[in-house]
Amino acid sequence: MYVKKKQYFCPRIGFCAVVRIRAVNICRFIMIKVQFPDGSVREYESGVTPLQVAERISTRLAQDILVASVKPLSVVSEKEEDGWVITELNAPLGEDCLIKLHKWEDAEAKHAFWHTSSHLMAEALQELYPGIQFGIGPAIENGFYYDVYPAEGQVIKDSDFPAIEAKMMELRARKESLVKRSIAKADALKEFGDKGQTYKCELIADLEDGHITTYTQGAFTDLCRGPHLLSTEAIKAVKVLSCAAAYWRGDEKRPMMTRIYGISFPKKAMLDEYLAMLEEAKKRDHRKIGKELELFMFSDMVGKGLPIWLPKGTALRLRLEDFLKKIQKRYGYQQVMTPHIGGKQLYVTSGHWDHYGKDSFQPITTPEEGEVYLLKPMNCPHHCMIFRNTPRSYKDLPLRIAEFGTVYRYEQSGELHGLTRVRSFTQDDAHIFCRPDQVKDEFIRVMEIIEIIFKALDFNNFEAQISLRDPNNREKYVGSDEVWEKAESAIIEACREKNLPAKIEYGEAAFYGPKLDFMVKDAIGRRWQLGTIQVDYNLPERFELEYVGEDNQKHRPVMVHRAPFGSMERFVAVLIEHTAGKFPLWLTPDQAVVLPISEKSNEYAWKVKELLEAQDVRVIVDDRNEKLGRKIRDNELKRIPFMLVVGEKEAEQGLVSVRQQGAEDKGQMTIQDFADFINTTVKQQMNAY
Ligand SMILES: [Zn+2]
Ligand SMILES: [Zn+2]
Repeated sequence: MYVKKKQYFCPRIGFCAVVRIRAVNICRFIMIKVQFPDGSVREYESGVTPLQVAERISTRLAQDILVASVKPLSVVSEKEEDGWVITELNAPLGEDCLIKLHKWEDAEAKHAFWHTSSHLMAEALQELYPGIQFGIGPAIENGFYYDVYPAEGQVIKDSDFPAIEAKMMELRARKESLVKRSIAKADALKEFGDKGQTYKCELIADLEDGHITTYTQGAFTDLCRGPHLLSTEAIKAVKVLSCAAAYWRGDEKRPMMTRIYGISFPKKAMLDEYLAMLEEAKKRDHRKIGKELELFMFSDMVGKGLPIWLPKGTALRLRLEDFLKKIQKRYGYQQVMTPHIGGKQLYVTSGHWDHYGKDSFQPITTPEEGEVYLLKPMNCPHHCMIFRNTPRSYKDLPLRIAEFGTVYRYEQSGELHGLTRVRSFTQDDAHIFCRPDQVKDEFIRVMEIIEIIFKALDFNNFEAQISLRDPNNREKYVGSDEVWEKAESAIIEACREKNLPAKIEYGEAAFYGPKLDFMVKDAIGRRWQLGTIQVDYNLPERFELEYVGEDNQKHRPVMVHRAPFGSMERFVAVLIEHTAGKFPLWLTPDQAVVLPISEKSNEYAWKVKELLEAQDVRVIVDDRNEKLGRKIRDNELKRIPFMLVVGEKEAEQGLVSVRQQGAEDKGQMTIQDFADFINTTVKQQMNAY
């Protein structure tokens, strides 16, 4: 028997602790130490599984956990987050390690749950559609899908979904375990080849021999790396949501597969809640509301994915832009305007031509001189030229240049979706050129702007994601270690100082710099990625941007890209779905509609409109020859906050009868009082920011 001392880093307490590890030679078991997130350490015999670890804590815990994350103490990693491996609950633990046991609430658990559900769906499909071939079946943000190729003459339709769901439930009731097997490449090719699974064989051909595993539950075997749940039994509620066409491996020259989307839950009530949310999301679809409120349109003649802003939508967007301009001015930004195209050389210099040239809109050539231009995919190169326009000194920095710049990016037509996936969009863009020591302050200032905007629009639930370098692969990034470290810690510190909950993702940074993305949660719990702040060491290098430092030497500025809304299109789409089209009073297209009781009051109705408009109230008249009840219903659908009912009595006394959507009637008011009420409310809303 011997005792050895081992040092390890405890992420919770943040210092190195000395733990005594005892190997007991006389016993049959070698004991290992397992440390939990709260810092507590328990001892188990080597080979213990995460499930057994949980069982010995409590039966309840063992029932609730779905997968585990394990990090052997022998793994040396700079960051606490590195080196974790998600493992199945029956994977033996062979050495001292840190462990996290994941319940449904954790993303890791949901991922494994949905991934396992895709196997269960495949098992069901195999029974229901003999001869069906399988492509890939991953978990996605909400649920899972499987790409399949049904046998000749078979089609999977929406009406088949209930049968697929029923089969999945029938199979899960058999409580089948997922059995993992390592298999030689040749054997795998034979096994899947014999079953006619040509797509699987193609996937196997790309894999390295010695690293191939399969999982079998019941009569279904899939090529997979895992991790999964131990059995399909935990999948208590499923819904097949939709199916769509998808090219095999995203290549339009390859066969068209059927992609079947589904979602599953460990409890029936959770599925019901999710389906109710989807129903609500349908009602809030920005494409539907955008049409009802006459905000924007698309025209095939103009081109797919090219939004056209209608008068009401344009006015709304301009109000948003003005709001942002006002805040930005306060934070020292200067507004610029640049053309919608740029010379090819600009993008060769910026590197965009090499990266995206052939995948984007193709160049425009002048007929006589043969000059080559590109639709601008981003505003940054133009702004770099503004920086270079005049010699800069350290005293000029930070230089903050803002532009509502419209950019054009090619998206496949199948990817286009309302205002959220478009081919032309206007970024609320700005570039900050600063010294390396100013990065943190600039991040804090941008975060303040974003906070103001989100609060003003009632997005009270937002969080950030910090994307940093892959610590094990530093060669692939431009810029020195020193500047990266400075910027990375500046971003983390900025979040800490602003008390912003932020998740750190290693390896997610762009090759040219770390970034901070903002996610908002909308009124029905969906997460949307909106604004971004991004450090860039690349463009200043490529455009040879310089400033004269205090030391009289030339230095490279750091460039920071930032767009709090992301794009006006996407932001308005999210805002519509968040508010269900009921915008705040300062922003909403029409603040009031005048409803004459009968034709006799039409003239007065128009006079009310004129008087209110003279005081900047946005108001329309509904003088259609319809019953009042009908007019009220129609205008409720248009989500106009105030309805001003006028009849002969009101006309005589210069009054309006005020109905507020979703609130008590406000009774009769003079026209002036109503105008004052609207303007005071708007002023209060705006002054808060
Ligand atoms: Zn799998
Ligand atoms: Zn930029």
